[in-house]
Amino acid sequence: MTGRLIVLSNRIPTGGPPSGGLVVAIHELLAERGGLWIGSGDDFAETPSESFQPVEGGKGYDKAIFDLTEAEYNEFYLGYANSVLWPLCHHRTDLIALDRQYAEGYARVNARVARMLAQIVEPEDVIWVHDYHFLPLALELRKLGVTARIGLFLHIPFPTLPDIEALPERDDFYYWLAAFDLVGLQTEADVARCLDSYRARPSGEMLFNGRVKFDDRAFEVRSFPIGIDGKTFTETAQKPITHNPVYIRANAKLILGVDRLDYSKGIPHRVRGFGTWLENRSPESPRATFIQITPPSRETVPAYQAIKRELEALVGQINGRYGELDWTPIRLIERGVPRDTLAPLYRLADIALVTPLADGMNLVAKEFVAAQDPEDPGVLILSRSAGAAEQMTEALIVNPHDAEEVGDAIERAFMMPREERQARHAALLQVVRDTDIFDWGTSFLDRLNRVERKSPPAASS
Ligand code: ADP
Repeated sequence: MTGRLIVLSNRIPTGGPPSGGLVVAIHELLAERGGLWIGSGDDFAETPSESFQPVEGGKGYDKAIFDLTEAEYNEFYLGYANSVLWPLCHHRTDLIALDRQYAEGYARVNARVARMLAQIVEPEDVIWVHDYHFLPLALELRKLGVTARIGLFLHIPFPTLPDIEALPERDDFYYWLAAFDLVGLQTEADVARCLDSYRARPSGEMLFNGRVKFDDRAFEVRSFPIGIDGKTFTETAQKPITHNPVYIRANAKLILGVDRLDYSKGIPHRVRGFGTWLENRSPESPRATFIQITPPSRETVPAYQAIKRELEALVGQINGRYGELDWTPIRLIERGVPRDTLAPLYRLADIALVTPLADGMNLVAKEFVAAQDPEDPGVLILSRSAGAAEQMTEALIVNPHDAEEVGDAIERAFMMPREERQARHAALLQVVRDTDIFDWGTSFLDRLNRVERKSPPAASS
């Protein structure tokens, strides 16, 4: 790489050392290569600023933030990003909240960030944009004459053609992506959906090797399945657990679910699956407690308030119906837990229920595998609709909508002989180790450095 690496993500770790897989990976990449990390600040601005503000905290690289006004936060972040693009990409067009102000706020923030970036970027720099918050960014930069390489990694699923049709900005969407040099997606299935959608456009043309020509622009689409820092996670999982395991297990086997409270995670469906198992389980099957750890997320968005009510009612019903004096079947914890508690807890669990209805990758599945004791590993029950299912084929793969299938998988996991558990775990651990977060970052950037540079746009669009 000849120029500087500039990373743009909506969230940027502020304060102490970064924690969490993705931010650690970006931190390490930048520490190794040098560069600049830009993200949005924690405080609202009174008026939108027109230049980034440097902040402390980068080790061997620079960090800068831009503030959003409260209106921008509502329109750009809660509005268009999380009430339009998020449901759209998770195949929930019924939950899309269309509002012209959201679209305008999203366009305005992207145009402003592009103006600020254009002031500092050099032609040899490489810009790596993360996620659905900044889809129009490359197009805005191209309009300002920026010719540097720009890559996008979309962490969430690529929408289907009918999903995209629900977007009022449908035509723009295709131009947004085509202005990048490289569009990185999680899975081969995402790549196929992306190529299909461009193929269906009159001006879309398939070139070779994942390259797409759209109108007067060509760009590349490729999958880069994201991973975790498996080695570190395995080490953390072996540390002593902070709570007494006897109380955690409550004299029963342990089933674990760990997700943000989001409708895409299929948590109520999973609870129904557990209820079906309780109803149908064989006499040989052990008693089991299902702990679901679910920190709230995007709490002011109505769809998130609805899923919270639904989940709490369902858990209450199942506990009321099946609970005993000395056992509560489901323990719902509506809070996040620190990683050094989470990792040993995964290790303690006999089963992980990772059953999203749609998910770009799902890192919980990989963390659970990394945390297990290879001698006596737990069983991963994984939704076929999680991106992780493309790689983690030795999990018990289920249809997350089908409560009976989920219930049967729980029964099968409890009955599974130790040798089969070991063999499945070994294969899964290999996947986690072979495709870790550091390889992911390096392969994306290597590819971006190799794509043919764009010339300035011939025509405005
Ligand atoms: P998403 O990015 O949609 O939330 P992922 O499964 O890809 O889903 O990543 C979630 C990350 O957040 C994982 O690293 C996971 O450990 C962490 N996480 C999720 N729920 C919790 C929780 N209850 N407590 C602590 N960490 C959590």
